[in-house]
Order: sequence, then structure tokens, then C-alpha cells
Amino acid sequence: MTAVRSSAGDRGGDLARKPRLLAVPLRPSLLAVYVPLVVATHLALTVVAVLNAVPRSNDLLTLAALLACGVVCIEASRRLGMPAGVARDMLSAWWLPVALLLPPVYALLIPVPVQLLMQFRVRRTLLYRRVLVMSAQGLAGGAASLVFHLAVPEPLGGTPTWVVGGSLDLLVAVGCAALFTVLDTILVVIAAHAANPGGRWRDLLWNRESLLLDVVELCVGVLVAIVSALSLGLLVLALPPVVLLQRSLMHQQLQAAARTDAKTGLLNAAAWQREADTELSRAQRTHDPLALLLIDIDHFKRVNDTHGHLVGDQVLVGVATTLCGQLRDYDIVGRFGGEEFVVLLPGADTVEACRVAERLRGRVRRLAVPAEDGTVAVTISVGVALFRMHGEDLIELLAAADLALYRAKQSGRDRVCLPALDGSKAAGE
Ligand code: GH3
Ligand code: MG
Ligand code: MG
Repeated sequence: MTAVRSSAGDRGGDLARKPRLLAVPLRPSLLAVYVPLVVATHLALTVVAVLNAVPRSNDLLTLAALLACGVVCIEASRRLGMPAGVARDMLSAWWLPVALLLPPVYALLIPVPVQLLMQFRVRRTLLYRRVLVMSAQGLAGGAASLVFHLAVPEPLGGTPTWVVGGSLDLLVAVGCAALFTVLDTILVVIAAHAANPGGRWRDLLWNRESLLLDVVELCVGVLVAIVSALSLGLLVLALPPVVLLQRSLMHQQLQAAARTDAKTGLLNAAAWQREADTELSRAQRTHDPLALLLIDIDHFKRVNDTHGHLVGDQVLVGVATTLCGQLRDYDIVGRFGGEEFVVLLPGADTVEACRVAERLRGRVRRLAVPAEDGTVAVTISVGVALFRMHGEDLIELLAAADLALYRAKQSGRDRVCLPALDGSKAAGE
């Protein structure tokens, strides 16, 4: 059973999710300081590096060839689209060779045309996010390139010795490729956490799927570096498999995105229902207890009316992240629509379900979502329904939880309720 947690677990996803350019102001505090700091550092280092660069025609040719491969890769997968939730690609297969084969200035520069292309040809995302990703890649690439060239000095011209000879040098190349990935990850994850402070560092940093992709990217990047160092013409052979890899990666992510609510990263209603049905059948077979929580944000319309729809969206993300952070991996969390969430708790009896619901209520109460004029706090009402006690299938359970939620709203909101014993709405009033 896999419950889809907040897509904050997908580092890039969190930063590349919002579709509109400059739609939300930068959040105050850390993010408003952090993003300009990273971007300014990248800009300053790039300017210094460009002023001190001695362009060599071979380097420019290698850069042009790798950039052309990157452009082909982007264009070849562009038609697949890149909706929310699709955030990973194989493009560093072309940037790692730039860092390993060319002076650091090129690694600082290469993300600029690439991210511009992504922004205008693939998907327009918030400008500050795009610029941050660009600067993170530039800084990570520049640092990896610098360390590599200090550790493995190269002869001017000709094939670098590490490509054909010393295995130790090759290890250093792999280490520097890993350094690129680690630095890039850290720079992006700090911003993702600042944008959504409710998210757990562990979820942002540790994601098995994402780590596997990092390793694949690293291997492909080092292989492409070796191939292009031997002969730029060999890139013609490297291009098709990398394009294919890129397309299948996109395809996988698109499939995952179809199950996910784009705004919060939780399961969407249809996917939640499918997973919940499976879990319910299991509970029927094993006679285990199971509970359902229906959660609704109180007076959410007021949040929209007072702070605007975009802050309202941030509240939804904050609540979703808080819910995920408080639940077990095998609990199934979904966004049911609007400001309503639904949670299935396998193995939970009445006491456990109410305990979890109270904990969620308490945590959401402590959430402070930044807005232009301070922070926004919200409360939730929770309706709890127990398998067998309140319903024998998902429809009955949802109906019972809905009655319980109605009771919670009627009796003042910001509380957890079970359905009334006689099952009537009026009983709660
Ligand atoms: P109650 O305590 O009774 O639940 O009051 P409420 O204001 O939360 O409930 P109501 O149903 O009156 O309003 C829900 C609001 O949620 C209205 C709708 O505009 C807003 N909403 C629904 N989906 C979204 C969304 O994706 N983003 C934002 N920002 N608002 C949304
Ligand atoms: Mg509501
Ligand atoms: Mg509602």
C-alpha cells in the first residue's frame, strides 16, 4: 500500500509546481532572503568567471554539442507535457559532462539557456522558482567543476587522461558528479522547506525513487562525459538512449501525476477511492478494524475573501503537508475536493481514530501560513467513522463520516465528532 504523501518529497516537484508566472509574492522571512542570496551568488560568480575566462574553440565546440543534445532532449519530450508532479528529467546527463570536461565558467553558464528554454518551451512556472533552480544548478555545477579540475589537472587540448587512463581519476569524476547532485539538492531543498515550513526535512531529502534517479543521472552523465571526451561525434550514439530514458521517465511521472491532486500532492479523489477500496477489502478479509476521517477546513471562504485565493491555496498545501507529516506511511490521505480531505486509517479502532483526529486538529491549529500582512491560522473539523460500527462499505463510511462532520460544524467547529447514535443530522445539534 502506498499512500501518496505531499509531493514535497519530490524535491524538484515542490519548486516547479505552481503554474503561473509571478502569481504569488515571495514569502517573507527566509525565502525572501534565501532566493536573492543564492541568485546573487550565482550571478556574481558567473560574472567573475566570465571576465577571467579564456575561451578556447574546442571548449566552445564541446559546449555547443552538449547544449544541442540537451535542446534535442527537451524538444523530444516536450509534447509529453510537464504538468504538476512531473519534475524530474535526465538533462544533467548533458550538464555533468560540461562540469567535468570544461572550465567551471561553462557549468555556471549552462543552466541559463536551459532553464530559459524550459520556461518558455515546456512549462511556465513561477519566475523565482525557475531562477532559483537555475542558480542552484549553476552553483552546484560550478563547484563540482572547480573541485574536479583542482583534483585532476588536465593537459591543454587532447583527450583528458582520466577518460582513458587512471581509475582513481575516474573515481574523482564520479565523486564530483555526486557533489553536483548533493549541492543542487541541498540548495533546492532549503528553499522548498522555507516555502513550506510544515514539511519534514526527511521527506524532502530522503526519497528512494528520487535517489535512484540521481544515481542513474550520475552514471549517464559520467558515461556521456567519457564518450564526448573521446569524440564529440560519438554523442550521436549517446543521444537516442538518453532521449528514450528521458521520455520513459516523463511517462512514469505523468502516470503518477494522474493519481495526484496537483495543488497539494495528495491522492486525488478517484485514486484515494481506489486505494481505500483495496484496503477495505483487506480489512473485511482479516477482520481488522479500520477508520475513516473526513476533514474540512473551517471558514475557509473567509481565508480566500480576506487574503486572496493564492494564499488560500498555500493554506491548502500547508494543511495537506501537516496531515501527511502526522500520519503513518500506510494511512491513505487524499484531497476530496475544495478544502476537504479524507484519511483512511487501517487498523485503527474508535480510540485510536479519535486520538489521531485530535492530533491532526491540534497540529493544523498550530500551522501559521505566511501572508503579506502576517500569518494565517486555520482550524479543522473532523468527522470520524468506524468500519462495521458505522458502515460496511466505503459509501456508507463516507456518509457516516459526513454526518459526523456535520455534527462537528454544528457544534461550533474546530472539533472531532463521531456520527450520532441514531445517525440523524439533527442529533448533533
Ligand atoms: P465551513 O466552516 O462551514 O466549512 O465554511 P467554509 O467557508 O470552509 O465552507 P464553504 O463551503 O462555504 O467554502 C469553501 C470555500 O473553499 C469556497 C471555495 O471558493 C474555496 N475553495 C475550494 N477549492 C479551493 C481551492 O482549490 N483553492 C482555494 N483557494 N479555495 C478553494
Ligand atoms: Mg470548510
Ligand atoms: Mg467544505
